[in-house]
Amino acid sequence: MDASCFDHDERLLGVDEAAAALRKLFPSPMASERLPLASLLGRVLATDIRSPIDVPQNTNAALDGVALAWSGPERLRFDIVGESLAGRRHDGLVADGHAVRITTGAPLPAGTDTVIMQEQLEFGGDDGSPWVAIPRPQAVRRGQNVRQAGEDIAQGATAIQAGTRLKSQHLGLLASLGHADADVHRRPKVALFSTGNEVTAPGQPLHRDGIYDANRFSLLGLLATLGCEVQDLGILADEPGSVEQALALAAGEADMVLTSGGVSVGQADWVRHALRGSGRLCFWRIAMRPGKPLAFGLLGERAVPFFGLPGNPVAAMVAFLQFVQPWLRALQGETNWRQPRLKAIADEAFSSREGRTDYLRGIYVGDDRGRLHVRSTGQQGSGMLTSMVAANCLIEIDPSRSAVAPGETVTIQPFES
Ligand code: AMP
Ligand code: MG
Repeated sequence: MDASCFDHDERLLGVDEAAAALRKLFPSPMASERLPLASLLGRVLATDIRSPIDVPQNTNAALDGVALAWSGPERLRFDIVGESLAGRRHDGLVADGHAVRITTGAPLPAGTDTVIMQEQLEFGGDDGSPWVAIPRPQAVRRGQNVRQAGEDIAQGATAIQAGTRLKSQHLGLLASLGHADADVHRRPKVALFSTGNEVTAPGQPLHRDGIYDANRFSLLGLLATLGCEVQDLGILADEPGSVEQALALAAGEADMVLTSGGVSVGQADWVRHALRGSGRLCFWRIAMRPGKPLAFGLLGERAVPFFGLPGNPVAAMVAFLQFVQPWLRALQGETNWRQPRLKAIADEAFSSREGRTDYLRGIYVGDDRGRLHVRSTGQQGSGMLTSMVAANCLIEIDPSRSAVAPGETVTIQPFES
């Protein structure tokens, strides 16, 4: 165990410092499983995908027209000796001076090297000896409109690298190589619960001092987007006994335990108590807004990672995106992921504070010169989920800045769609 994570207790940690401390503890990726193509969306590849075939398999026509053995502008008329159709090729050598009709994607017959599109040709000889003529030979280049076998992917080449999270286009590519399944990392099981005597399940009557449980559902969504399996443990009262039990139960099976609430200063006793003897725990105060208090630890003999997120709904989401997300991606072997960051021009002033990273909820748009502009969504309270709903990015203002003036450049983290 690297001591650094557990040495920070009392200090206010920078976002980068906390992220680096976590990175040192990143787990090795989950084991892999083989799944059929239709179940692979959003999963992370465990092994490189090689192409068993040349793609395209045959040198073929890029459009409908004729394929001919083009030897130069002297010859302007060719006898048509057959046709090559998608799915049914023309066999045999096409001799000099001859051509075949060809459709898009059909294999180029031996002897031919050039395809000329239908619209640039004249056809004649309907009486049984058809021919084709090229009225404008200046417009023809040898080899044009031909796709070479293997020009997209050569047989044996790596088509998709291990560590890639599969999107729709990857599924299409896998299918185009004839792969019916692939090895992906298993889905992490995440045990999730909310804490707080005031926290009330949606659908229940709201006590006059109550608040509905938003976090369990925003976190469910974030976890699902990351391909996790969620074990929903509901809401726990601020009571050491029940929390201790729940944590022990969760840590028995889960690959991560995630809670929200109950980690602010003076409040954290129940977690501390619950983990006494059964794990290692550190409380971090992170120099960020929102999202300052964060608990992190390793539970029980299996050293199951535990993240105690702040209770305020925006803070919980922001802290998840900065700290929990990278961990879960590492756990799934997603090696090439980086927090998405772009630069945008501030269209208004943003307040922030030196020594702290501020995450404002922002709306970015492109202008007609391709530059990005960003403004805030308005009120920025750490409990206001409406600000997350209105936003399409977080505006990340680094600790060296005390304010941002209109026209200055800021970093944004676009929400991934
Ligand atoms: P805590 O860290 O437990 O003091 O929570 C900070 C604030 O977040 C308090 O106003 C809580 O009522 C609120 N809160 C805690 N958990 C949730 C939740 N699951 N959904 C919505 N608000 C919450
Ligand atoms: Mg609470």
